[in-house]
Amino acid sequence: MLEQLKAQPADKILALTEAFRADERHGKIDLGVGVYRDAYGLTPVMAAVKEAEKRIWDEQKTKAYTQLVGDAEYRTALTDMILGEGAVQRADLSSSASVGGTGAVHLALALARAANPELTVYYSDPTWPNHLTILSSMGIRHQSYRYFDAESGTVDLTGMLEDLQQAKAGDVVLLHGCCHNPTGANPTLEQWAQVAQVVKESGATALIDLAYQGFGDGLEQDAAATRLLTGALDEVMIAASCSKNFGIYRERTGLLIAKTAEAQQGTVQANMAAQNRQAFSFPPDHGARIVSTVLTDAGLRQSWTEELEAVRLGMLELRAQLSAALREETGSDRFDFIARHRGMFSRLGLTPEQVEKLRSEYGIYMTGDSRINIAGLNRETVPVLAKAVAEVIRR
Ligand code: PMP
Repeated sequence: MLEQLKAQPADKILALTEAFRADERHGKIDLGVGVYRDAYGLTPVMAAVKEAEKRIWDEQKTKAYTQLVGDAEYRTALTDMILGEGAVQRADLSSSASVGGTGAVHLALALARAANPELTVYYSDPTWPNHLTILSSMGIRHQSYRYFDAESGTVDLTGMLEDLQQAKAGDVVLLHGCCHNPTGANPTLEQWAQVAQVVKESGATALIDLAYQGFGDGLEQDAAATRLLTGALDEVMIAASCSKNFGIYRERTGLLIAKTAEAQQGTVQANMAAQNRQAFSFPPDHGARIVSTVLTDAGLRQSWTEELEAVRLGMLELRAQLSAALREETGSDRFDFIARHRGMFSRLGLTPEQVEKLRSEYGIYMTGDSRINIAGLNRETVPVLAKAVAEVIRR
């Protein structure tokens, strides 16, 4: 029977990683997959995470099931980190731990589809490719809204607001809370207020994908748009990931928060539990426990915040270096936007042919849309990339 299954296209980003591994050239540079790497190319376990794991090992007395929506302490601690203590009426909120940020997006869409099978999900053009994979596999109608002005490397706010006016009650508007993937371009807070206004008038539900809190302008600053939208709109879902900011990619740690009318809270919470039950029963706990251990202990929280801040500042420094190097190599300000972008990614605006040349001739790997992972660079490789980019665009 299983021979009836159709062949599946390879995941482009993971295929790129494989191709990079197989490349035997010395000095090759991997700017593909979205994993943070330090100056030595490593993705270390954060000190506070290691310490939290030690404490859990010492103190944990049981590994019996938690709740269908995950551990309450984890959900409270992470909700506070995202929305700020007391930012919204707690009676408005439902939440569930999830299998990473991906699982939170999936759960949010499953709830939306259960509530309204006819919904349309509006997503940014471009977006994280897995958003589209998830939407297609769930059979959910989806439509893009304009987001990125490739010419200037900034958000096309006019286009975005115009397209979002098509949304209506029962639809979902999928937004990146910070550090937009793949473009790195983000609305200002004033622009977010305009987005909130349009979504409010449309009656649609906002689904905020928050996968990089702490990677852009700081932990608080990166939550500002999410808090603004949550304050302004009656119905919001937030799909958060701890993969990047806690560096616990493989632990699969995420959270879905829903803000609804108070009267709906119990039903929404019960629906989250029911969705989990039929899919996998209980969400993973180890990563969640690491996060709650770190967030509820002053010392660990301080250590984690400092390490995260160093990661963030390191990426900002690389952005400044790369845009300066490109300015020098190309003699133009075409790539100045890299310094203004935030998060792990920027889109260079190269053609697929130029991207291919960078790979085949220079051993520099990036996704076909010319998205680079800033954290894949270091002080030594920045000038190498700048020179190569200048050469391929000159031809
Ligand atoms: N959303 C976006 C925009 C992402 O870039 C990612 C990670 N690549 C995720 C969600 C999900 O992350 P994870 O499932 O690994 O927590």
